[in-house]
Amino acid sequence: MSGVSRLEPVPAVALWSDQSIHIPTVCLDPAGIHHQGPENRFEDGLLWPQVAGTPTGAPRYAEVNPLLQRVAMEGLLCQIGMGPATRSPKGVLWLLHQPEGTRDDPVRDWAGGENVLDPPVCLFHARDAAGTCPELRRGHEAFWVGDSELVGVAGLYYPPDQAQPVDRTIPLDSPETRFLVATALIRELRNVSPVDLADPLLPVDPVPCNAQPDGAAPMKRCPARPSPFTSSPLDLN
Ligand SMILES: [Zn+2]
Repeated sequence: MSGVSRLEPVPAVALWSDQSIHIPTVCLDPAGIHHQGPENRFEDGLLWPQVAGTPTGAPRYAEVNPLLQRVAMEGLLCQIGMGPATRSPKGVLWLLHQPEGTRDDPVRDWAGGENVLDPPVCLFHARDAAGTCPELRRGHEAFWVGDSELVGVAGLYYPPDQAQPVDRTIPLDSPETRFLVATALIRELRNVSPVDLADPLLPVDPVPCNAQPDGAAPMKRCPARPSPFTSSPLDLN
C-alpha cells in the first residue's frame, strides 16, 4: 500500500459540514402537518425540510441533502454529478453496493422488485465511484433498470395521536404522507439487467454527466468515507 489516501468523487447529493437540515416548527391538524413560516412543499403535496448553509467545508458522506436526493431521484439524474444518468436500450444505469446476504443486508430479490433510495448514475461516475468508494470497492452491482417507478417516501412521521415523530417509509399514494416531513424519495426497480462496468462493449471513455462545453467536469473529491445510503431493506408501510 502506498499510504496515500485515495480521493473519491463527492456525490452531489451528499450533505456538507457547513450545511444542516432544518425542520421548522411543525403544526399538526386533522388535515396533516405544516410548517410555521415558509414551507418546502412541492406539487405532489409532500412537505420537505429546509437545508441551511452552503456546500462547503467537509463532505458528510453519511448524510444526504434531502432536496437534492429528491431532484436526482425524481429526474433520474446521476447522484454524483447531477447530470443525466446513462441510458441504454435496456434501461437506466444504477450502481448499488453488493449486499452481504445477512438479515440486515439481504440479497436483492429482483423478481419482486427492489426499493432503493439511491438515485441512478452516469457511466463515467459509476466507474469512478466503483474504483474509489471504499464501500463499492468491497463489492458492487451495476444494472440497467428497465422500469423504475417512484413508489414511496422516507421521512419523519408525526403520528396524530403521539407526541414524538418517528422514522417511517410510506407509499406515495398513502394519505399518511400528509403527516410526513419527507427526507428521500424511493424508487422501485424492476426489469433489471446486470452490467459489467468493464464490459468492452461499453464506451471506453464516457463523458461525465456534468461535463461543461469546454470539457471540464466540476467535481469535488475528498478522502474516503462510509456510504451515504442505508443498506437496510426498504419496506413500505
Ligand atoms: Zn455522473
